[in-house]
Parts: sequence; structure tokens; C-alpha cells
Amino acid sequence: MTTATVVGSGPNGLAAAVHLARSGVDVTVLEAADTIGGGTRSAEAIVPGLIHDQCSAVHPVAAASPFLRGLDLEALGLRWCAPVVDCAHPLDDGSAGLLYRSIAQTAAGLGGDGARWSRLFGALTADLDALFEDITQPLLRVPRHPLLTARFGAVSATPATVVGRFWRSEQARALWAGVAAHAFWRLDSPMSSAVGLMILAAGHQYGWVVAEGGSQAIADALVADVTAHGGRVETGIRVRSAAELPPADLLLLDVSPSIAADILGDRLPRRVARAYRRYRHGPGAFKVDFAIEGDVPWRAPAAGDAGTVHLGGDAREVFDSELAVHRGRMPERPFVLVGQQYLADPSRSVGEVHPLWTYAHVPHGYTGDATEAIVAQIERFAPGFSEQVVGTAVRSATEMSVYNPNFVGGDILSGASSPLQLLFRPRVARDPYFTGIPGIYLCSASTPPGAGAHGLCGLNAATRALAALGIPRPA
Ligand SMILES: Cc1cc2nc3c(=O)[nH]c(=O)nc-3n(C[C@H](O)[C@H](O)[C@H](O)COP(=O)(O)OP(=O)(O)OC[C@H]3O[C@@H](n4cnc5c(N)ncnc54)[C@H](O)[C@@H]3O)c2cc1C
Repeated sequence: MTTATVVGSGPNGLAAAVHLARSGVDVTVLEAADTIGGGTRSAEAIVPGLIHDQCSAVHPVAAASPFLRGLDLEALGLRWCAPVVDCAHPLDDGSAGLLYRSIAQTAAGLGGDGARWSRLFGALTADLDALFEDITQPLLRVPRHPLLTARFGAVSATPATVVGRFWRSEQARALWAGVAAHAFWRLDSPMSSAVGLMILAAGHQYGWVVAEGGSQAIADALVADVTAHGGRVETGIRVRSAAELPPADLLLLDVSPSIAADILGDRLPRRVARAYRRYRHGPGAFKVDFAIEGDVPWRAPAAGDAGTVHLGGDAREVFDSELAVHRGRMPERPFVLVGQQYLADPSRSVGEVHPLWTYAHVPHGYTGDATEAIVAQIERFAPGFSEQVVGTAVRSATEMSVYNPNFVGGDILSGASSPLQLLFRPRVARDPYFTGIPGIYLCSASTPPGAGAHGLCGLNAATRALAALGIPRPA
């Protein structure tokens, strides 16, 4: 029987394990932490019974993932829950840009910009599954749907600041800027629209959904599938060198390129080692979880129905604060993301006490404390918020990389979204998953299509690993 070891139990490691186990491979997943799931873990942190997503929270791209959609998720215990409003971007005048799953409903709220919004996202979502078939694969291949992919590529290649000029109203511009800021990169750079565009297209088709009971349910579902197909997951095992691993036909590494270089040592071809060592990480995330009594008193009422709220002021302010962070300077008013997952999934609350998930964009390796800046941004759009806070749990950018070594310097995307790394990660190669050592593949979010709890990096790597051994894909 073919054997495989997967290092790391993030969604990509587990996706790789699912695909391998379903193909009849005997799979063992080794995880450094005491709990499985990597960037999809959830846990109590402040009040007993209150569930906080430790990392990923909102999952439009996971919901659109052809890999996850190919599994019987409900049978595996994963149910997506949708908020009334997908995302709100409040402004200082009390208004807000509002994003709904429905393109028509979003357009209706965007006044004069509605028709343009409908045209752009109507075209991109007309055949989203076909689009995803192309844009979730490495670039150096012939696209299956060239026209659709070219349309996506043309807007993606345009700096987000330039796309921002498509919209006339401050609400539409801010809504766009906030979603584009998920790229975690200066938004006047080429390709800086790609991440936002993908999230918006996926969200308009599948919604900005959350996992019932916490994002941990994503990892738990994948582990359930691995074990149902004969595989196993072992926690508390940090792999430092491939030499210490039991022999296996395949080794898949759900780790950042620098960790892969450490694990593989001298076996790695020199040019690959050089590329892995040069791989760049982006700005960091400073996370504060709150336990709050009652709902956030948003000045813009619709924000009270939104699963995600982006706080960063108008588009100009978002562009400027992202540029500052990119340059290593902490802005006075950083871009802050707020998750109100409990609105769609009340099971996470304890009575009237709710978990509120927030993080701020901060410079790479930031050693300061951004807690006050986060609270100030919430107070700016929800005066009186502080009085509701029952408790907080803080994870700084530097603590983030201890919690999960893949998040180097607090970089929760496992790699900078520079134009080069968006197109070719972790290096320029026809098969970016292959490490150059027969049977050994990188499968983390540092490979295409990049960050998110979609599992597609793992699926792509495992598919190539099986093909190299001549093992057919599972039915
Ligand atoms: C604060 C925050 C918010 C986020 N929000 C979202 C969101 O809303 N939606 C979304 O889709 N994504 C979000 N993400 C990103 C998402 O979590 C990641 O992109 C995703 O988890 C990457 O998956 P992965 O499998 O590549 O790696 P990871 O999830 O990073 O998992 C890697 C695993 O490998 C283990 N590991 C590393 N080195 C070793 C070793 N040497 N030996 C053994 N094990 C090892 C780690 O402990 C970890 O468990 C967020 C992340 C963070 C931190």
C-alpha cells in the first residue's frame, strides 16, 4: 500500500490527507500543536462556553471551494450559516456600504453605482465554478475558460486604488477598499485587486458564511473524512527534520517555505532552497477577541446585521493605512476587521454574552500593542462599545507566529501578496508544489491559490503527488 506523511493539520494539510486517503493511500498527519486545525481552530478564551475563532472566521472562498463542495459536509458535521448582511463598511457620517449575497440587493443599496456593481459581479459570477477551475490553479498552464479568466485577470491586474475610481459614491468606494484590503498589501500596486475580487465573486455566489459552532468544525469535518478512509492524525509532534520521519512514499508539507527548507535541509536542490529562503512574508495581524454583553451599538443600524464589519473610514483612509503598514509604520487608525459570527450562529454565545472577533492590520513583526487602536476604531463607529466589554483575549503579531509558525511575523496569509508572489508562489515553476525531491511536495497556503480555509492548495499538491506515482484520482 502506498504511504504518505502530511506535516501540519491546517485546512490544506487535511485536504491533502483527505484526497490521498480517498485514493487508497495510507496517510498519517503529524501536527505540532496539541489541537488540530491550524488556522481554523476555535476555542473558549474568556468566558466558559463562549466560542472564539482563533484565526479564520468568515468563509466565502471555502464555501466556493470545489474541494469542500465535493464532500458531504453536513454528514461530516459542517454546516454553513449565513448572516443577513454579508459585510458592512460604516462611515463617519453614520452611513455604510453594504454587501449582500444577492448582487441585486447590493446594487440596490449602492445608488448610482449599482448598475456597475451588477455588471462586474454579474459577469464574474455567471459561471463561478468555471472561473474557480482556472483561478485556483498555478498560472503556468493553459486556462480552460480563457474569456472568463481573462476578464477576471484584467480587473485583478489593476491596482485596487484605480478600481476604486470606478465607483462614484463614498459608500461603494469604501466597500470595495475594505474588501480589497484583505490582500494585506499596498493597494496602489498591480494585482492588488485580485484577492478582493475573488472574495467578492465567491461571496456573491455562496455568501460570507461561518461554520456552525466555530471554524474548528471545518478541521473536524476533514479529520472525520481522513479517519473514515483509514488515515490518522497525531498531535503534539513538531517535525524538525525529514530524517526523523518514518519512511513513506510521499511527504506533503503544510508549512511555510522557510520551515520546509529547515525540514528538508541539504536534500533540497540549491535553487529551490534559495527560493524558499527568499520567500517574502507580508504585514501582520494583531488580534483581540472580546466577550461583550449585548450587541455592538453601531451608529449605522445595518452593521448590526452584518457578519463582517470593516472599519477603516473612507477609501482614501483605507488605502493610506494599508500603505503605512506595508512600509512598516503603525497607523494611528489601522484597518480593523470585526466578526460578528454569533449573529448567524447563535450557538457561540452564552445568553446575552457574545464573542466578538477582531484584528487590525499592523506592520510585519509589530511588537507594539494595538488593543487601544482597535477599541478606538470600534468606538468611532459604535460609541459606547467599551461599556459592553466583559473581557478580552489578545494575540499580538509576534504571538501569532508562536501560535502557528506558518504565520511568520504575524503574516496570516502565509506569504506577501506582492504581484510576483500572487502570480507565482512559492517560486516561479510549472509545478510550484514540487520541492524538487521526488515524492515531496509543499501544500500550504504559500502555494497557489494562497490563503484561506478552502483546502485547494492541499488538493492541488496531493493531485500532483498521486499523478507522479501513477495513482488514479478518487472517483
Ligand atoms: C486572525 C486570522 C484571521 C483569518 N481569517 C480568515 C478568514 O476569515 N477566512 C479564511 O478563509 N481564512 C482566514 N485566515 C487565513 C487562514 O486561516 C489560513 O490561510 C489557512 O489556515 C491556511 O491553511 P494551511 O493549511 O495552509 O496552514 P495553517 O492553517 O497555517 O496550518 C499549518 C499547520 O501546520 C502546523 N505546523 C507548522 N510547522 C510544523 C512542523 N514543523 N511540524 C508539525 N506541524 C507543523 C501548524 O501548527 C499548523 O497547525 C485567517 C487567519 C488568521 C490568523
